[in-house]
Amino acid sequence: SREVRLERRPNGAPVAEDFSFAEVQLPPPGPGEVQVRNLWMTMDPAMRGRMSEARSYVPPFELGKAMEGPAVGEIVASGDPAFAPGDLVWSRLGWREGFIAPVTKVEKRERDLPPQAYLGFAGMTGLTAWVGLLHAAALKPGDVVFVSAASGGVGSVVCQIAKLMGHKVIGAAGGPRKQAFLTDVLKLDGAIDYKAEPSLTKALARAAPDGIDVYFDNVGGEHLQAALAIANKGARFALCGMISQYNSTEPSAAPRNLTQAVTKELRLQGFIALNHLDKMDAFLADVRSWHAAGQLEQVETVYEGLDRSLDAFNGLFNGEGLGKMLVKLG
Ligand code: NDP
Repeated sequence: SREVRLERRPNGAPVAEDFSFAEVQLPPPGPGEVQVRNLWMTMDPAMRGRMSEARSYVPPFELGKAMEGPAVGEIVASGDPAFAPGDLVWSRLGWREGFIAPVTKVEKRERDLPPQAYLGFAGMTGLTAWVGLLHAAALKPGDVVFVSAASGGVGSVVCQIAKLMGHKVIGAAGGPRKQAFLTDVLKLDGAIDYKAEPSLTKALARAAPDGIDVYFDNVGGEHLQAALAIANKGARFALCGMISQYNSTEPSAAPRNLTQAVTKELRLQGFIALNHLDKMDAFLADVRSWHAAGQLEQVETVYEGLDRSLDAFNGLFNGEGLGKMLVKLG
């Protein structure tokens, strides 16, 4: 079984030399252990933070060791009566084709959804969208919603939830392929190609002539600056992530207009989905019913094989990914 190890902390965008592929032997599982063959693993922007040395809300990846991240797989052999071969399990032991681990490291998942949904709309990605929109931004009827990285994993779920709840939604994403996706597939009310717009603030003002009441921020920087400029009085911002800064070696110059938060009495609420696991059941009940009603679909980009995992990871930053970025294994 192969795994991807971090060998060097990247400077800017990660390159192949920062990683190694290693072959490990998996002995039969001992008592209380399971052997898992990973089927799918997710690529998350936050992994870029963990490749660096600075401590965040999760510790950095260790050099010379396999990286980690959410994955779903199948039990191959079990040393515990609660797990049988063929069971579908979720773990944080991604970036590897398979593993042996104590049963406390895996959680069973039902087969009623496609396995990779547990990494997308029915997993942490979906929980992030749901918590950010309904709790951090406290979405209420009539709100006009602006979403950045709107075609991405979290963003595409945010847009679908806000639309099915009857909101006017404006999304920003890079390039014509993503504009078409936002308007034709997600049926958003406005789509901004931030890569083609000389002024994001002017573009947002055109797309939202009545202003915005909620901003779901995945990007930070210029996007946050535009949202501050166009926000209505009392608007709520869910600060989810700031991907425009993860690969940069310089601090961001924007936003330069934070004073708008004072004069407009805005509420800027950061949140970490991992700290909201107590809401998992309510979240899953919502997404299962929306999915069953055909109102919420998984949008995904799939790279095949562990060998493509670095391409998949970089696809989060170079615009190649649309929807949830996944690597299919096995
Ligand atoms: P995405 O699938 O959204 O992938 C990242 C997207 O960001 C890309 O599709 C890309 O789209 C866009 N992007 C990349 N670089 C830039 C840039 N410089 N400027 C503007 N857009 C850019 O990833 P996720 O859905 O996994 O994550 C989305 C955000 O949510 C991230 O900020 C992440 O850190 C955050 N997050 C936060 C969590 C929390 O608990 N707070 C939990 C999970 C994720 P494009 O082609 O349009 O540029």
